[in-house]
Amino acid sequence: MGLDKLNQLYRAVILDHASNPHHHYVVPDATNEKTLHNTTCGDTINLSLRLDSNGTITDIGFTGEGCTISQASASMLTDVMLGKSRDEGLAIAKIFSDLAIGKEHSAKEVKLLGDAQVLTEIMEFPARIKCATLAWWAFQRALSDEPREEN
Ligand code: ZN
Repeated sequence: MGLDKLNQLYRAVILDHASNPHHHYVVPDATNEKTLHNTTCGDTINLSLRLDSNGTITDIGFTGEGCTISQASASMLTDVMLGKSRDEGLAIAKIFSDLAIGKEHSAKEVKLLGDAQVLTEIMEFPARIKCATLAWWAFQRALSDEPREEN
């Protein structure tokens, strides 16, 4: 496990999100949702959010279970995405996904990730990358699927 090798401060931020996850609920009247599993580790993330008519994320939450990193990552994601537009959110999720596959981004772009910046250290531990990216993939998939009410 990579956590004990992480910078102390980063580790504290991750453990804080995992033990007191933010927005840990199913969004009532969600317009978009997605559940993804990481079978390698046994993580599940259900992400739900509500887009208003302007395409702004007015509520976002997650439920699920799994390792510290998967749950902390989902908590960090909800903090970052709340209040963003759909397009802004997708652009930020792409930065995170890109970092996971070894693509570089500017310091300014990485800063957009908020607390999730600390997870970029996880990318040095290949076995944990799926744990870190699960919520971000769920977010991207939730927004690329058609909203429920239009089905
Ligand atoms: Zn995991």
